[in-house]
Amino acid sequence: MTSALRIDLDAFAANLRHIRGEIAPSEHMLVVKDDAYGHGLVPIIQRAWTAGVRWFGAFDVQTGATVRATLGEDARIFVWLAGSDDEIRTAIDLRLDLGVGDRDLLHDVARIAREIAQPARVHLKIDTGLHRNGIRPEEWDAAAADAAALESTGAIGVVGVWSHLAEASDEEDDAASAQFIAAVEASERAGLRPSVRHLTASAAAFARPELRHDLVRIGAFAYGIRPAGGPDEGMLGIRPIATLSAPVIRIDDEGAHVALGALHGLPSTLAGRVVVASPSGPRALLRVDRLESVVERWPEALLGDEVTFYGEGAASATDLAEAFASIGEEIAVRISPLVSREYLGG
Ligand SMILES: *Cc1c(COP(=O)(O)O)cnc(C)c1O
Repeated sequence: MTSALRIDLDAFAANLRHIRGEIAPSEHMLVVKDDAYGHGLVPIIQRAWTAGVRWFGAFDVQTGATVRATLGEDARIFVWLAGSDDEIRTAIDLRLDLGVGDRDLLHDVARIAREIAQPARVHLKIDTGLHRNGIRPEEWDAAAADAAALESTGAIGVVGVWSHLAEASDEEDDAASAQFIAAVEASERAGLRPSVRHLTASAAAFARPELRHDLVRIGAFAYGIRPAGGPDEGMLGIRPIATLSAPVIRIDDEGAHVALGALHGLPSTLAGRVVVASPSGPRALLRVDRLESVVERWPEALLGDEVTFYGEGAASATDLAEAFASIGEEIAVRISPLVSREYLGG
């Protein structure tokens, strides 16, 4: 017996169905960066495709290429990190949709598209306040004019306008939304006809219907990860899809030693702060070492007993994250490939 991350693909599909109902008539782009938030890219996108998801937010070109190879030509795949000429060339060649938040990058994309005689599909990004890349509002008109000129040569097609919200407060998001709408209008005045406008991720897509536009980019909620300090899974209508467990490998006066440690991605800051699920109920997590952790003993503990750190029958990843002021995604993406992924359902 070894440590395992069990992923319930039926629960995943149920989350996807719920998201679709919640956000309709907008479409769902499933965000699959960081190996689908640690859940394993290929099984996740295959199930999502079967469940009707057609847009995938891959972040980097390599992930986008895997999605293309797995799902074929009909998948729409959005990447927003393509820096080098090689990456841009691959992205255009594979007909990935490219997020472009920089005028120089826009010209690079057009040049490479001409070189390989394949028009690039571009989503222009307006910086609505996060300052994390994106065309500044004061440069937007000029960038939109450049994009329209490049579009008229056939090198690029501007299919989208997008931005990313801070989701820190409604006021900030409202200001960002106003800036976003102004940018869409300016792009239309410049002669562009973007057909997909997208602004929101999980939290705002659920809480702020008026900000959804054509497409919402949802990662966390699809995997059943609720926001730290926010509404619970029941209120959101989602459920966690992953369960992280490991066996007891030694029992001594100190406690039950379990085969999951910091090297497997368990944050050592959790020691002394959370409880985990033993066969006879919740027990304190006492220590996290490199290769194992120590859990408060239960009277009838046996070697091979399974301890669950988060998921079915235990706390959620977000519950654990809250113990050290982090977020559930942070825990999920840290689980090392040393922990085997097992898929249920599907
Ligand atoms: C990660 C990410 C998302 C998804 O965010 P969630 O809160 O996990 O839904 C959406 N858009 C961008 C640009 C992202 O980087």
